[in-house]
Amino acid sequence: MEEREFETNAIRMQMDRSGNLEHSVPLYLTSSFVFEDAEDMRASFAEEKDRNIYSRYTNPNTSELIAKICQMEGAEAGYAFASGMAAVYSTFAALLESGDHIVSCSSVFGSTLSLYNNFFPKWQISTDLFNVNDSAAAIEALIKSNTKVIYVESPTNPGVDILDLQMIGDIAAKHGLILIVDNCFASPYLQQPISFGAHLVVHSATKLIDGQGRVLGGITVGEATLIDKIYRFSRISGPAMSPFNAWVLSKSLETLAVRVDRHCENALGLAQFLEAHVSVKMVKYPFLKSHPKYEMAKKQMKAGGAVVAFELEGGLDTGKKFFNNIQMLSLSANLGDTRSIVTHPASTTHAKLSPEARLEAGITDGLIRVSVGLENIADIIKDVSQAIEKATL
Ligand SMILES: *Cc1c(COP(=O)(O)O)cnc(C)c1O
Repeated sequence: MEEREFETNAIRMQMDRSGNLEHSVPLYLTSSFVFEDAEDMRASFAEEKDRNIYSRYTNPNTSELIAKICQMEGAEAGYAFASGMAAVYSTFAALLESGDHIVSCSSVFGSTLSLYNNFFPKWQISTDLFNVNDSAAAIEALIKSNTKVIYVESPTNPGVDILDLQMIGDIAAKHGLILIVDNCFASPYLQQPISFGAHLVVHSATKLIDGQGRVLGGITVGEATLIDKIYRFSRISGPAMSPFNAWVLSKSLETLAVRVDRHCENALGLAQFLEAHVSVKMVKYPFLKSHPKYEMAKKQMKAGGAVVAFELEGGLDTGKKFFNNIQMLSLSANLGDTRSIVTHPASTTHAKLSPEARLEAGITDGLIRVSVGLENIADIIKDVSQAIEKATL
């Protein structure tokens, strides 16, 4: 294929047209595929042919989505899952053995922490966590003879901290470990972790990739040998993405670049408004100069993403009044939607963590997370502004 730009590939990479010469890609809602004859059937099951057999294995719509994300992330191969957490879980389950050890960061998605704490121990898989601000030496000190994987996210949820992906890529290479990066907050448009040494990239496609709050989806892409293990585990255990969701998500990728550009522009606008506001104690956004890792964010991301974290003077009490006075923005737990969303992590997504674990993950009781949507920025600021005024009366 000739060299084309990100936006062009997102639109022009599509499966071959059927005999109907449709312009927009059709939806293959079929659980299985037929064979020409007995020999075709035998050869297909023996994997002598590269073709669709059953949609738990492959389907034209999921294959198209996977091919596009591989192109965007610079990956060799991938597999698409019913949700982001199915991607996270199946990736670990396919690669780890009983007795293996994971090195990860305390600031990873809440359900991923819950896998480490509540489920992996029953298969003797243990985890040690470093803090987002730890040095390379502190991270290396956690590596043991049975460590197999380093797993991180950047930017982190909900604190929007930034990890030095090149530094972590170098540690993984030096110790022969598999580096997995959850790239959900950046999307493949803003950041490509494989270029910093990641072997696998995981996405919750539910967020910016769908971008309109409609379907769940997950995907893992990366080195073909690792993806083959994940594929073999998943075609048996059955977490496959539905062809319908793959069709929706592949269509969504056509507009990813323009949507994410506007998300970032609006998020920076809101972050700057909050930074100048007297009642705001703290605001964090990767592309604000005041962010402790601003230079790092600039180096590894094209723009700052959709999420802004802030805290009002007065902490939790003022925060509650803020939520109760919000008029237009949605009180919801999703992110990366066209609609702006406000969330209180300490009482919702991270409520199951202990107060100490929350603080370790950078989640104070008063922390407010905004996923900045695509409404006109003047209206977003107007709503946030009036809610702050009423909360701080
Ligand atoms: C939402 C999310 C997930 C989980 O994805 P689901 O599609 O909800 O299962 C994983 N990682 C991050 C960073 C997320 O935001």
